[in-house]
Amino acid sequence: MVKLLQAGILALMDYGERLFRIRWPRGFICPRCGGRAYYPVQKRNQFECSVCGYQLSLSAGTLMHKSRIPLEKWFAAAALYDRSPDITPLNFSRALGLTKPTGSLLLKKIRQGLANRKNRILLSKMASEA
Ligand SMILES: [Zn+2]
Repeated sequence: MVKLLQAGILALMDYGERLFRIRWPRGFICPRCGGRAYYPVQKRNQFECSVCGYQLSLSAGTLMHKSRIPLEKWFAAAALYDRSPDITPLNFSRALGLTKPTGSLLLKKIRQGLANRKNRILLSKMASEA
């Protein structure tokens, strides 16, 4: 099982690995059955619980769920926002190398997301690991 877990972690991209460790610091736990073993699904950053077959994505239940913005940008955005919470949408977009509409949307999502305690904790951990 340890090998299976390691293989799953290694199959992830670098930022996927960081998010994985932030979300499951003591290893994967299936949200449905509590199972600790999983298989990586071919689609990147997706898992299947090897006990109950539940499939979930790394970003499920987070403000990044179904976002088209790559994880590395989310990490950089979390760090940037952490340093400069009053940043303008234009400067935010420029600093992250995003178009203004995409960057503005990301900034809005972060600001809205911060109303939620779970998101605040997640974004602050991401900021420190960006
Ligand atoms: Zn399960």
